[in-house]
Amino acid sequence: MSFLDEQLRATEIEVLAAVFSDADLKMYSSGLAELYMYVPVVDDRTCNICLDNAKLHPLVLGGDIRFLFPYAQQVDSGLWMVLAHPNCRCMLVLQEIKL
Ligand SMILES: [Zn+2]
Repeated sequence: MSFLDEQLRATEIEVLAAVFSDADLKMYSSGLAELYMYVPVVDDRTCNICLDNAKLHPLVLGGDIRFLFPYAQQVDSGLWMVLAHPNCRCMLVLQEIKL
């Protein structure tokens, strides 16, 4: 593992610890939950709803997707469209972070 990989990994784990409760972390680390990263398409058309979502929910457990984003649709295995508003282009992408 390169230094950069190690740094990225450390950051991922810090983000995980910051956004999830201990119970959620335990569920994820024991393999009972999938982990998704919120990926907004950031350009001059990106709205505040999506930027706020990305800030508030950088990482989401699979079981929380429907609760957090009621209009989300799974389009592929490991890929959801968030559909936070009409024409929303945000995605939730399955992550593999080993704890
Ligand atoms: Zn969006």
